[in-house]
Amino acid sequence: MDDELLARLGAIPGLQSTENVPLSQLTRFAIGGPARILADASSEAALIAALEVVGGTPHALIGGGSNLVADDRGFPGVVLRYTAKNIEIDGSVVRVSAGAVLQDLVDATIAAGLEGLHTMTGIPGWVGGAIYGNAGAYGHSIHEFVESVRYCDCSTIGPAVRKIGNAACEFRYRESIFKRYKDWIVLETTLRLPAGDAAALRSTAEGILRVRNEKYPPTMHCAGSIFKNLILAELPESVRAQVPAQVIREGKVPSAYFLELAGAKGMVLGGVQVADYHANLIYNSGAGTSQEVRELIETLKRRVQDRCGLMLEEEVQYLGGS
Ligand SMILES: Cc1cc2nc3c(=O)[nH]c(=O)nc-3n(C[C@H](O)[C@H](O)[C@H](O)COP(=O)(O)OP(=O)(O)OC[C@H]3O[C@@H](n4cnc5c(N)ncnc54)[C@H](O)[C@@H]3O)c2cc1C
Repeated sequence: MDDELLARLGAIPGLQSTENVPLSQLTRFAIGGPARILADASSEAALIAALEVVGGTPHALIGGGSNLVADDRGFPGVVLRYTAKNIEIDGSVVRVSAGAVLQDLVDATIAAGLEGLHTMTGIPGWVGGAIYGNAGAYGHSIHEFVESVRYCDCSTIGPAVRKIGNAACEFRYRESIFKRYKDWIVLETTLRLPAGDAAALRSTAEGILRVRNEKYPPTMHCAGSIFKNLILAELPESVRAQVPAQVIREGKVPSAYFLELAGAKGMVLGGVQVADYHANLIYNSGAGTSQEVRELIETLKRRVQDRCGLMLEEEVQYLGGS
């Protein structure tokens, strides 16, 4: 496939294609073998042209790589990134491209005296990834502010650009319709934010960042929380009965609570380990592999099921492999 595909990709203006790029360099976990081709599209036109050229060749889209476990064998096709970074603020309305760094969006809204995204300070990744997983922290998620999302539907013959409103995005805790329709690529979102006091927002954000940097040191190779927290109302009565009231936060039970009961803290498997201070945090201590991450995740799920009678679900996403 490669020579002809590379030549056709190379002819697309605004597309940068590179062969054999280690996914370990594109992911915060610092794990993963080579992407056969990495294609960075700096404009919508370049992304759509690339998708047309790629056609049925195996391909995957990633963002900042902060929530990914990439396979040790790499990815045998084309890994695409949409890197447009525009952020436009007009009063309370913010239009932002999916390739913008989330922290740049957070900082821009704080500077403009707009409230809401400041609690998301320190969440790594790009805006498209944040929409995909409905990212959030400290009581707020991005969906609260989304008016609409423009996306490219690649399930059709010839990619089609569409726009949907908040309700149609089917946002829930760490979920959106984009997780179900993997062929939908977020291009841009329009947000509406209430006015706030820039200095107060900045001060809150700085406090949050200090706490986050202790939990996730900036040099730590990880993907944030490995498992989603659990919605109390959705748990079987037998499990709910085990949960002390003081661990429940905003109607959710941290999966770390169950993981801790199952003895997860400090577990080590080769080059990966569970933090000794946080049972829902796996990090790569140096030479970790995706196989070790997957095995450790399976072991933790089994332990929690045996000990507490419930199945945890990954928040982290997999790229490549089975
Ligand atoms: C230290 C640390 C702390 C974290 N803390 C938090 C936290 O507090 N709250 C939280 O919610 N998350 C947290 N995360 C997880 C992560 O930062 C978020 O999930 C983030 O939004 C992922 O964005 P990304 O661009 O890195 O996506 P990637 O990791 O590159 O991709 C994740 C998934 O998103 C999909 N995707 C990416 N871009 C698009 C797009 N344009 N269109 C469609 N799909 C797309 C990919 O296909 C992939 O399946 C943390 C991660 C780390 C490493």
